[in-house]
Amino acid sequence: MQTVDVLIIGAGAAGLFCGIHAAKRGRKVLILEKSKKAGRKILMSGGGRCNFTNLHVSPEKYLSQNPHFCKSALARYTQWDFIDWVESHSIAYHEKTLGQLFCDTKASALLDALLADLKQAGGLLQLSTDVENITPLPNQAGFICDTTHKKIRCSSLVVATGGLSIPSMGTTPFAYQLAESFNVPIVPMRAGLVPFTLDANDKKQIEPLSGISFKAQLSCKEVSFTNDVLLTHRGVSGPAALQLSSYWKGGDVVCLNCFPNEPLPSLLSDAKKNHPTQTVKNYLNQHLPNRLVLERTPDGLLAKRLADTSKKDILELTTLWSSWQLIPSGTEGYRTAEVTLGGVDTHALSSKSMEVSNTPGLFFIGEAVDVTGWLGGYNFQWAWSSAWVAAEVC
Ligand SMILES: Cc1cc2nc3c(=O)[nH]c(=O)nc-3n(C[C@H](O)[C@H](O)[C@H](O)COP(=O)(O)OP(=O)(O)OC[C@H]3O[C@@H](n4cnc5c(N)ncnc54)[C@H](O)[C@@H]3O)c2cc1C
Repeated sequence: MQTVDVLIIGAGAAGLFCGIHAAKRGRKVLILEKSKKAGRKILMSGGGRCNFTNLHVSPEKYLSQNPHFCKSALARYTQWDFIDWVESHSIAYHEKTLGQLFCDTKASALLDALLADLKQAGGLLQLSTDVENITPLPNQAGFICDTTHKKIRCSSLVVATGGLSIPSMGTTPFAYQLAESFNVPIVPMRAGLVPFTLDANDKKQIEPLSGISFKAQLSCKEVSFTNDVLLTHRGVSGPAALQLSSYWKGGDVVCLNCFPNEPLPSLLSDAKKNHPTQTVKNYLNQHLPNRLVLERTPDGLLAKRLADTSKKDILELTTLWSSWQLIPSGTEGYRTAEVTLGGVDTHALSSKSMEVSNTPGLFFIGEAVDVTGWLGGYNFQWAWSSAWVAAEVC
């Protein structure tokens, strides 16, 4: 039987980062990974360039049944700490938009640095290993882990096996099943940061517009996001839709406002005064893709000069472009989702260390926990922050 101080299950962002910092504290660390390769989601993230954090990280950008839970970890290991780590490894990066930081070259630069750091700190990584059983030792003396290769004894067990999104990457419900076996409750899971699908009626309306992208405010109840929207042959995608999907519940109406900065009636009234001979079509084309304008606006209205538009016309245009309503039939689900909402119930964990309150020595970190960030680097920051606080005590 092999004996280590800290056994980490899962070599993704959270598991690797926890391994590095626990090993730096002098703990004997072993990370077990089911796949043949560590950090596969790091490699595929951010279109291959990994949006590793965000300049504007703050607790309000995270969803959880326990919204205060993430505050401590995010405050103790901040985006600035991770940026320092990135810089200390000479990884070139840039801000794309909205505070999102991406690697200049490939995400593999970041993964290579994590793996090199782990090795330098003395942490071990074992790939292609399945965990078959975990048994707690009496008197809180640690755990015995049966793997496909051997038995491992550890005093701290850190579960970093992520969520359920992109099943083709070999995701597992390991964290949730293990939590339940230790009487840790689970907040029901669902796909987040995922495109919406539409019912037959709305799909018929959207299908001819497939491929069109434009900026709009998407809202659902009191939540709204203004960003790019992409219409697809299956539904609605793009950053604004992905963001809203994390807040959307079945049956909720989604409202698109293509003129979010100022009410359309007042914009049209100004345009009417300043450019009375301009047609409705030309006015709309200044703000929206031509194909979208042509498909959705009645021909009679398109050809009208602004000077000739009536109150009824303005109302019709406002309904068309500022309160375009869709009722998604659902989402694309885990197949394409970037994250899993819900997971290990934070009420059972210490917010300072991620340790399970009723089982000393057992920790859950990263996406497996019921803390989910917005699109834009927030989820990786949660992985780094939750991993770092666990590494301080495990
Ligand atoms: C397409 C895509 C793009 C994304 N882009 C971004 C982005 O740009 N910015 C951002 O902030 N977030 C992004 N995310 C989300 C981000 O990837 C996750 O939030 C993050 O990877 C979570 O880290 P984690 O370590 O908790 O889990 P993971 O990265 O999922 O790692 C879990 C690890 O555990 C292993 N594992 C699972 N089960 C077992 C088991 N039973 N035994 C052993 N090992 C196991 C897995 O193989 C995996 O290596 C993206 C997600 C996707 C799917």
